[in-house]
Amino acid sequence: MSAALRSNFLRTQIQADLESGSVSTVVTRFPPEPNGYLHIGHAKSITVNFGLADQFGGRCHLRFDDTNPEKESQEFINSIQEDVRWLGYQWDGEVRYASSYFEQFFEWALHLIDASLAYVCDLSAEEARSYRGTLTEPGQDSPYRNRPIEVNRELFMQMRNGDFADGERVLRAKIDMASSNMNLRDPILYRIRHATHHQTGNQWPIYPTYDFAHGQEDAIEGVTHSICTLEFEDHRPLYDWFIEHLPVPHRPRQIEFARLNTSYTITSKRKLKQLVDENIVTGWDDPRMPTIAGLRRRGYPAAAIRHFCEEVGTSRSDGTVDVAMLESAVRDHLNQHAPRAMCVMQPLRLTLTNLAESLVLTVPNHPANPEFGSRELVMGSELYIDQADFREEANKQFKRLVLGKRVRLRGGLVIEGESCEKDADGNVVHVLARCVTSVPGTDPEDGVKPKGVIQWVSADEGLAATIRRYDRLFAVAEPSREEDALAALNAQSLEVIEGAMVEPGLSEAEPEQVFQFEREGYFVADRYDHTAEAPVFNLTIGLRDTWSATHG
Ligand code: ATP
Ligand code: MG
Repeated sequence: MSAALRSNFLRTQIQADLESGSVSTVVTRFPPEPNGYLHIGHAKSITVNFGLADQFGGRCHLRFDDTNPEKESQEFINSIQEDVRWLGYQWDGEVRYASSYFEQFFEWALHLIDASLAYVCDLSAEEARSYRGTLTEPGQDSPYRNRPIEVNRELFMQMRNGDFADGERVLRAKIDMASSNMNLRDPILYRIRHATHHQTGNQWPIYPTYDFAHGQEDAIEGVTHSICTLEFEDHRPLYDWFIEHLPVPHRPRQIEFARLNTSYTITSKRKLKQLVDENIVTGWDDPRMPTIAGLRRRGYPAAAIRHFCEEVGTSRSDGTVDVAMLESAVRDHLNQHAPRAMCVMQPLRLTLTNLAESLVLTVPNHPANPEFGSRELVMGSELYIDQADFREEANKQFKRLVLGKRVRLRGGLVIEGESCEKDADGNVVHVLARCVTSVPGTDPEDGVKPKGVIQWVSADEGLAATIRRYDRLFAVAEPSREEDALAALNAQSLEVIEGAMVEPGLSEAEPEQVFQFEREGYFVADRYDHTAEAPVFNLTIGLRDTWSATHG
């Protein structure tokens, strides 16, 4: 993988820190809040943090930034660990939790109180807003700002003991109400919240804010480079202020980079949760979701996601990456790694009128890579071909089966259409053809070669399968810019085909195994629903990018 590493400002910075000796071992962390499933943007953060630790022989922690108990849950904690591992990374040591440092944060809050750098404030949320000022006007000091240290200590202890109701008081840092950086206008350190926490139960009726917790978590863990996204750039002076004013064991450093956004995608956890809660998708791991669990179930290989994250680069300017780039990384990977198989989406009966005996064909599993081996397929006189591959008559453009014309059956004989039967509505329901070769892979002796090759499945041995054809979930390039993103859903994001026919060997497909169904696309055996008796395949991605052609 390292051959493909490009230079970027994070790598350059870390290299410089190692060379100057200011850092000896690189320690990074991936710090999700367990309030949803991870998505493609998190995959970027994971590859950056684990990738840098890897590249520089350092360590990367997985740390749950669990300071908001109401929105968090064990389900999310479990899914996040599973997704990080599936992406191919292993964190250093045990999983870490911000909540296991609550006692230390509390002591550090007392330290700030004792240094007259923090105070308990009784302003209501609304009052605090009006005291805060605006971007153009300075704020005003809270009337509680100059409480004596003892009073602050006493009140903060009472907050911790659960003596006050939610929202009644907060603990704030005493910095500068006139700062041009709003984050320094006496930011909140603790809020009162009588909530049960998934890790600490009912031990704490107060919870630290992100700002007060995050840098201190980094300091406790010895993180050297705390990499986050650009929206935290304005928080960096506050991050540094805490590190400077607290007796922390280590001085981490925050570095920001631009979020990854892909077109046709939303990555707001709140909106993704809405899709799940309103049953617009079947769950966080619905194959149309941009979640890692969704991409996995869709058949996107972890290696392709990692490759994409590396390819898009790491910069300090926000932008949106065309989701076609991700799709193309998936297609390129699967083209090399997916064995081929045959599937007939809309089966049409075909009888070979002059085939006396079944043939056993040896068909390669990959056109370019002999290491994939081959498989045996029995070709009898009763087959299925795709309805789209037959026409009674057609011009030369149509290189499939036509009455009186020739075509090759994949891996097998050349046949010529003879006649067809129709139902009462005039639909062709049965085609009769004769074989014009008797040895697979050869050309007819009369020199009239077939123009094309079509898929087929043995009528006796083939398996009926369910095919879920997935497409992009949103019909517009930037759904997060829509007033109502849910109004921009692609109504055709899922088509279910029952009764497709697949070749018999696919009864052995493992869940999550991806195949190229020739001429159709890449399909994955569904992680949960696929069985040998009732195969279920999800469309991972088509063979070519047809989105712009079909959606104008
Ligand atoms: P929120 O904080 O609103 O719940 P979030 O997407 O920031 O949402 P976190 O769990 O805080 O979720 O994210 C964990 C890490 O992943 C953070 O370091 C965050 O900066 C990073 N991250 C989140 N979204 C992206 C993205 N689109 N691109 C790159 N990194 C991201
Ligand atoms: Mg966040």
